[in-house]
Amino acid sequence: MIQANDFQPKRNTWTLQDSAVLYGLKNWGDDYFSINEQGNIAVNPQGKQGASLDLMDLVKELEGRNLKLPLLIRFDDILEDRLEKLHKAFEKAIKHYKYKGHYKGVFPVKCNQQRHVVEELMRCGKRWNFGLEAGSKAELLIALSLIDNEKALLICNGYKDKRYIETAILARQLGRQPVIVIEEPDEVERIIAASDELGASPIIGIRAKLSSRSSGRWGNSIGEQAKFGLSIPEILTCVDKLRAANLLTDLQLLHFHIGSQINDIGILKDALQEASQIYVELNHLGASMGYLDVGGGLGIDYDGSRTATPASANYSLQNYANDVVATVQECCESNCISMPTLISESGRAIVSHFSVLIFNILGTSVVPSAIPPIQKEECLTVRNLRDTLKYIQKINKKSQVDPSELQEAWNDAIKFKDDALTAFRLGYLSLRERAIAEQLTWACAKALVEGLPLNDFLPKELHTLQSTLSATYYANLSIFRSAPDTWAIQQLFPVMPIHRLTEQPKQLGHFADLTCDSDGKLSRFIDNGQVKSLLELHKIKPGEKYVIGMFLGGAYQEVMGNLHNLFGRTNAVHVRLAPESGYKLNHVVRGNTKSDVLEATEHDPELLLEKLRVASEQAIQKGNLKISDARRLMDHLETSLRQSTYLHK
Ligand SMILES: *Cc1c(COP(=O)(O)O)cnc(C)c1O
Repeated sequence: MIQANDFQPKRNTWTLQDSAVLYGLKNWGDDYFSINEQGNIAVNPQGKQGASLDLMDLVKELEGRNLKLPLLIRFDDILEDRLEKLHKAFEKAIKHYKYKGHYKGVFPVKCNQQRHVVEELMRCGKRWNFGLEAGSKAELLIALSLIDNEKALLICNGYKDKRYIETAILARQLGRQPVIVIEEPDEVERIIAASDELGASPIIGIRAKLSSRSSGRWGNSIGEQAKFGLSIPEILTCVDKLRAANLLTDLQLLHFHIGSQINDIGILKDALQEASQIYVELNHLGASMGYLDVGGGLGIDYDGSRTATPASANYSLQNYANDVVATVQECCESNCISMPTLISESGRAIVSHFSVLIFNILGTSVVPSAIPPIQKEECLTVRNLRDTLKYIQKINKKSQVDPSELQEAWNDAIKFKDDALTAFRLGYLSLRERAIAEQLTWACAKALVEGLPLNDFLPKELHTLQSTLSATYYANLSIFRSAPDTWAIQQLFPVMPIHRLTEQPKQLGHFADLTCDSDGKLSRFIDNGQVKSLLELHKIKPGEKYVIGMFLGGAYQEVMGNLHNLFGRTNAVHVRLAPESGYKLNHVVRGNTKSDVLEATEHDPELLLEKLRVASEQAIQKGNLKISDARRLMDHLETSLRQSTYLHK
């Protein structure tokens, strides 16, 4: 039943604030994203105090430079600001608790390996001696070449063979500060052997397998079953071996990583306590120690609900820094141990905000709801449905709607539709009459839904009604390429139109992407701690672009994306605020052409063209193809190979 208090008095005006509330922008937008007077998304790349860019204007200007959608816009100022916020949070916590030690961050390269991104982080991070974390040999090469600061750390994680270990040891002589973190028991032997052979030793770290409770998607990064790290008995064996090899003084770091996107700060606290105790014990065992590396996991509040749910986190950046500092301090103080330099490997927390994925809508499919013209001699059910429709339209005109009236009207419509179906089955209704009855039922539903305020909680019956009328918005995008986690792990990102936000969005819909895969869709949206399957969208205006932004996707999406259906990388640009006003484009990274993606699957674009040339020549000979048409075909093929894999409208 519809309760009277489910309804809000109707307002005729839709404001920017309504849009901000509807899309949760106030919750997840932080200081970076808001809505401007024009009803477009405004980006403040340096936070609130800095200048603001109109995202829609920016997109138009980029398109003017022939940078077609879909497009990834990277705001390097946001990257810098996030780095600053992280360091400020730790500085503040250290000051507040009078912690006698420092904080030193590293960026886990796996989070976003793009050269311009890592370079930018190294450049902006220099003032804090910000370093890098590598999880593979390829990432080690990136880290070695891009760190040019003797005070920055290079944390070497991941499984390591002899060459990985020797490279890290030798890099110390280049003036880098590599720390080899032992992730599995065998590695200690290889480190001892390499140090022996080279006559030089690395800084050594140990990754501990913690047994604290865990949660969330990456919950199994912790506990006895974890893939990485040493159990307590293994740690003890490792210490003994290092002592025997005279390398115990090089053991300086304890590392743990309890998984990405920690939703619940309570879990982090437990892990911190356990790790701090292990750190103290390692000191007692005679290791030099000096660093405690708390790994990654610092969460992003994708839906802004501040809850311990998968798309959120129940703590702020400052809470996180406070807990790390306070917990370690307490443990070290009570054990009279000097306080370690704290390291975090926060990836998601640094790069999520800075890139925005922009895509356009190619068209929509909606339930037909045109009102069929009145026929001569309509049957009773059809006439009844027409009356019901008129009645709903009349209710909608009133300033105060009585919900029970709406419910009643809808019940009537459903009954008449069922009547029509029964009559059809019994042969009393023609196919045409049945079609009219169905169309009128849709029209009733639509009239009903249009009268409802979209941003309020709706009674269940009416919400179902809205979903049956929802539309598919065809997105010029491959989610497998650009938002793979939405498919692979049901990750939620804020998605919303970047313009027309002064208008009330009157259509519920979801997005279907370009791939021929029924999984290729976006149909889970943030909903303040919950998930909704339909998003409030605007109706497409003929001849006008409808542009959508996916936000907070700067971490992991790019490299995890794949070539499903051979949709390639999108164009990407790096935008910086210009000193005076406006912005400048620091880098333009062109997306893949069709040639690129063909080559990625071992096809030879030239050979492919040649085969088709031969085929069209044969068709000309047989008289099946005109010469001018053959030329047109070859033109299309040649141009197409040079162009992006997406649709151009
Ligand atoms: C993935 C990973 C990180 C980064 O985690 P975020 O949740 O992105 O901060 C840090 N350290 C290690 C060892 C990792 O495997």
